[in-house]
Amino acid sequence: MGLAIGVDIGGTKVLAGVVDDAGKVIAEARRDTPADDVARTRDLIVEVITELAAAHDCEAAGIGAAGWIDAGRSTVLYAPNLAWRREPLRDSIAAQVTLPVFVDNDANAAAWAEYRFGAGQGARSLVLLTVGTGIGGGIILDGHLVRGAHGIAAEFGHTLAVEDGHPCGCGARGCLEQYTSGTALVRYARASQDLLARVAGDPSKLDGPAVTRAAQDGDPAARAAFAEAGRWLGYGMADAVQILDPDVIVVGGGVSEAGELLLDPARRAYAERLAQRGKLPVADIRLARLGNQAGLVGAADLARTR
Ligand SMILES: [Zn+2]
Repeated sequence: MGLAIGVDIGGTKVLAGVVDDAGKVIAEARRDTPADDVARTRDLIVEVITELAAAHDCEAAGIGAAGWIDAGRSTVLYAPNLAWRREPLRDSIAAQVTLPVFVDNDANAAAWAEYRFGAGQGARSLVLLTVGTGIGGGIILDGHLVRGAHGIAAEFGHTLAVEDGHPCGCGARGCLEQYTSGTALVRYARASQDLLARVAGDPSKLDGPAVTRAAQDGDPAARAAFAEAGRWLGYGMADAVQILDPDVIVVGGGVSEAGELLLDPARRAYAERLAQRGKLPVADIRLARLGNQAGLVGAADLARTR
C-alpha cells in the first residue's frame, strides 16, 4: 500500500494528511496559515510533513497551493491570499525534508481527487468548479490534468460575465466570480432590507452561512440570492461544456454545501444556455464528494503517481 502526504495550503488553513492509494486519509494535521509570512509558512509546511512522515512510511509529499504555479511546477508565481511572489516552493521544502516534493495548484489537486476517488469516478473528462470566496477550477481531459502552457489554465472565475461589471480582485471588472461565489451571494443578500433586518441591520453578520440558513428556512430574499448566484454558475458551466465537453461537471467549495439551493437554478440556467440542448448528450452536474479533504487527497495522489 503506497502512502503519500498531501498538504493543502489555503489562505486561512493548512490541512495535511497521510493518504493511501485508495484516496483514504489515515492521519491528519492542521494549522492556521501565517498568510503574510513567507518564512513561517515554509517552516510550517516542513513541520507538518516531518511530523506525518515520522509516524508513517510515505513515498512522497504533494503540496496544493492557492496560487499560480509555473509550468515546471516548482515555483508559486503569485498567490492572491498569501505572501508568495515567485516563491521557489518545491525546492525550498525539498531541501528540508527527506521525501520527494511535488507542487500543484490547490484546485487542480482537488479536481484530481474528485476524478480519482470522488464524484468523477468513472469519468474520462471532468471539470471541477469550486464555489467559495471566489471560483476555482480544474480540468481533466482524457485522464490528464490540464495545466496549460503557463500553468494557469482553468481560471473560470476570471472569464468575463458582465462588461464593465463589478471590480474583481484580479484587477479586471465583471469577472464571473463577481456574480457567482460566496462573495457574490453575500452581496446579493445584503441588498435585501428583509435579510438585513434578520441580523439587526448589521451587514457583517450576513455572511455565506447566514444566507444559507435563511434560504433553508425558506426566506424568499435568501432564496433569490441563491437563484442569482446559481444562474451565473449555470452560465459558467455551459461555457465550460461548449469549450471542453467533459463527461461530468463537479461543483465543490463551501457554497456548494447548500446543495440544491445552488445547483437547481444552476442546472436550469445551464440547460437554457447550451447550444446542444435536447439534441446531444451533455455533461452531468454533480456535487463534489470529498469536501475540504479534496485538495490534500489530490496533492498526495499526484505526488505518489507523478
Ligand atoms: Zn477577476
